[in-house]
Amino acid sequence: MSAQLVLRQRAELVQALCCGGTSEGLESILDLLLSWGSLVWEDYLSVCVAGKTLSSRTRDLLDLVYSKGDSACCHLLAAFSQVLPDAQKNNLSFGKCSDVQNSQEMPTSATLTLLSDRPGMVTKLRQCVDGALDVLFQKGFLTSSECEGIQLPVYTSSQQVRRLLDLVQFKGEGAANMLLQFSQKIATAAVLPHENEKSAQSAFVSEFQKKLCSSISAQSHFLSTYSGTGKFSLDDIYTEGLLELGQGGKDTQMSLNLKDVVGRVGTLNKEADTVLISGEAGCGKSTFLQRLHLLWARRAALHDYLLLFPFSCRKLNTEERELSLKELLFLHCCWPDRDQDELFQFILDHPDLVLFTFDGLDEFKQTFSDDRRHCCPTKPAKVSVLFFNLLQGSLMKGVQKLVTSRPEAVPPTLRQYLCKEVLLKGFSTDGIDCFVRKHHSDPGVASRVLESIRSNTALLGLCHIPVFCWIVSKCYKELLGFGNSSLQTITDVYLMVLHHFFHHRVCKGKRSEKSWVQEHLHTIMRLGKLALQGLHNSHYMFPETEVQNCGVTEDDIGKGFLIQSKNISFDNKHYEFLHVTMQCFFAALFITLDINSNDKLTIQRLFVTECTSKGCLGICQAKRPDGPGTEAPNLQITSTFVSGLLSQRHQGLLLQCCPVQTLHKRSKLVVKYVSRGMQNHFKSIPPPVKGEKKSMHAMPSFVWLIKCIYEMQESEVAKNVVSKLDVEHLKLTYCSIGPLECTALAFVLQHLKCPVGLQLDSNAVGDVGVEQLLPCLHVCHSLYLRNNNISDEGIAKLVEKGVQCDSFQKIALFNNKLTDVCTQHLAYLLKTKKNFLSLRLGNNNITAAGAEQLAEGLRCSQSLQFLGLWGNKVGDKGAQALARALENSQALVWMSLVDNGVGSAGAQALAKVIQNSTTLEELWLSKNCITRDGVQYLVQALEKNSSVTAIWLRGNNLSPEEVEEFSLKERRLTF
Ligand code: ADP
Repeated sequence: MSAQLVLRQRAELVQALCCGGTSEGLESILDLLLSWGSLVWEDYLSVCVAGKTLSSRTRDLLDLVYSKGDSACCHLLAAFSQVLPDAQKNNLSFGKCSDVQNSQEMPTSATLTLLSDRPGMVTKLRQCVDGALDVLFQKGFLTSSECEGIQLPVYTSSQQVRRLLDLVQFKGEGAANMLLQFSQKIATAAVLPHENEKSAQSAFVSEFQKKLCSSISAQSHFLSTYSGTGKFSLDDIYTEGLLELGQGGKDTQMSLNLKDVVGRVGTLNKEADTVLISGEAGCGKSTFLQRLHLLWARRAALHDYLLLFPFSCRKLNTEERELSLKELLFLHCCWPDRDQDELFQFILDHPDLVLFTFDGLDEFKQTFSDDRRHCCPTKPAKVSVLFFNLLQGSLMKGVQKLVTSRPEAVPPTLRQYLCKEVLLKGFSTDGIDCFVRKHHSDPGVASRVLESIRSNTALLGLCHIPVFCWIVSKCYKELLGFGNSSLQTITDVYLMVLHHFFHHRVCKGKRSEKSWVQEHLHTIMRLGKLALQGLHNSHYMFPETEVQNCGVTEDDIGKGFLIQSKNISFDNKHYEFLHVTMQCFFAALFITLDINSNDKLTIQRLFVTECTSKGCLGICQAKRPDGPGTEAPNLQITSTFVSGLLSQRHQGLLLQCCPVQTLHKRSKLVVKYVSRGMQNHFKSIPPPVKGEKKSMHAMPSFVWLIKCIYEMQESEVAKNVVSKLDVEHLKLTYCSIGPLECTALAFVLQHLKCPVGLQLDSNAVGDVGVEQLLPCLHVCHSLYLRNNNISDEGIAKLVEKGVQCDSFQKIALFNNKLTDVCTQHLAYLLKTKKNFLSLRLGNNNITAAGAEQLAEGLRCSQSLQFLGLWGNKVGDKGAQALARALENSQALVWMSLVDNGVGSAGAQALAKVIQNSTTLEELWLSKNCITRDGVQYLVQALEKNSSVTAIWLRGNNLSPEEVEEFSLKERRLTF
């Protein structure tokens, strides 16, 4: 049986072991087989022949074990099961072999003990091979050339241990005993340090910890966006953002707190120790990490970690030297004043006490690659190699790592090494409130700012992204002074902050004929040039020389857009923009206003990416393979700003700075490329499968193009673009759609000619997003909003508009935050809309009272065909109310009350619906508490019904005998 499994899965086993490109997996399997006695020494040597490729060695092993019969094959499968990470085990079958343990008798000699404990010895000794070699050399068991042979840098530390074990195997009992004693000693030292040693050790560790804490504390005390004013400490302004588990987690909508981010909640891959915190630019990733650092430095959180090493990918970009891991830690985070080697050894020996954080993977020059394995902590390598091996786990396995990134910069090759993904979704509506109140000590001002934000829903949508919220709140004088209705787009918001910064520094009294943009044109262009160059080269931190080369003056710096990097370990001054979106905005200003540029090339480069060019069906490539790593996502933000700046509404402001013909020409080009990008999307829609609707699954760049069109604020462009979209279903699931994106979508989609099904499941739409979608509700026949943090308030607004939209017929609201309160609105919808077809409310908090409310509407509806209430709490009372309302329905086709605490009384009431209905086809009643009596009512009702095809009853209060009896009696009952 096991032999058959090995034979049948030969190709898959070879692939699983070799796909990573390193021999660590194969060697770990050999360790296990040797220790279990499934292979003898000669077998082992025959597989390990030098010079053979990894795959041919793996095949040799499979052949060898197969020839040894079923029991050896069973051990082989067990070893695969232990060694392979979960992600690679999915498609393999291990039969009953996954739990094989060492069945060898107790070893009778030190040499045999080394053999039977080989896997454990490799783990124990790999952090201290040099120490073991020292001891064996001093005692005369090994020669210096043998030691050197083992220490060759081509070997990883695990391989060095294996070579040592192989050698000691033939050196006799004395050497084996010595090695066993050594390993025993380090094991005890790790578990229970000798008192003297412990206090000495804690002295140098705690000394370093102190230094680390004070350096981290100093760096995280202020937010960079407040530098210059220095008014707010992080404590004053920090506002909790929305944190959720990423795709693939069980409870994706569950809110997380700081502790959960490093904790076990939502772990998808237990083998991995890298947690990804992802979110769009400006949603608060760096600030979240900064908060975490500060709390750790004050010992107010993350107590399990003795040491925390914070890395910035921006800073790692500037490192050109090859470094060892030790140098990387100490040079980039904090330099220990003494005992560097001991401290590093402590880190290696106690990975569980150490936390690494990496901010801004999306800003790292190179894309993550899995090509070069590097396991040796002392061997120097390029920073990218160290970084990727840390994330992937070859280096410092067991150390927890947190990495922040924009989602598009995380390639699938990295995803397989992630322990979990946490999504940072910006501020909730309450969060905006809290932030603004923290920002303004005068409660009167705070209330006026909030009033102003709330009265403009586009602006409210924008403020869910913290960086925009910060700008709006910072520029409150402009906001309150000039009225807020003109603020619709992110370009408007960034022009406001530009005005704010310049305005503050303009000498009062001097009146000028020039527009304020023209007045500061030189500064804008110099900063813009620096910004654009930076984006093209993945530079976000600029040394002074680079700043000077772009002509940026002290005076320009004084305007406040560029700030000095606060990283203290730099020898030279470095500058960065207040935020990457600010860098993109300056780059966009440069592209828009530079009279010397070749428009076609510059604008084409911005808009024509892999995804918008013809025939592209794949996911947008996050980074260009041939160029610097981080260009694409930032160019998308830049192009969004360019679309806004070149729109007609801002041309008045820019006219004095650039000839009108040039602006017109550029504007036309933008419209052309955006339209063409959209057409290419539409052309890539596959023809519908027979019997199914024509549907388009939007690619990430679709949302970007929609945002560009929104920035232009020109309905004609939107109208033209969507006039060519001919689909019945538009799928935008898992596309990071928040309120801001909803505003843009509605702006464009409202011009659709024919109604579509708009599927927005698993995004962050929320109540504000729902409100933003209303302008396009008349062109939605169905709206799918599963997993979107929507509450009763959102439903109230949706219904108010929905009843006026003829085409609107279906809504899916599975897994939101709905309670009984929303059912009165939904009842009104059912009563009022005579053609409403489908209402799905699964996994919310609707109880019997809500069901009773809903029943009021159902009684009047002659059209509803689908009613889904899976996973609510309507109970018998609710089921009875619904049943009474549906007793005479001649439309209902499908209904689900799965997992609702419905008992036999509820079943009895539902039996009446079955009895009378000529339309009902399926009734789902699984996972309830219906007993024999209840089922009997259903059976009797079915005798009088010919339309029903299935009633699902799995997981009710029935014995196996009753299940059998009823299955025989009525085949339409499904258990
Ligand atoms: P990201 O790293 O996702 O691009 P940042 O963390 O740099 O975003 O946030 C940009 C700006 O938004 C910050 O400088 C700060 O002004 C504001 N901000 C972000 N998150 C918060 C927060 N949780 N509380 C207060 N302000 C925040």
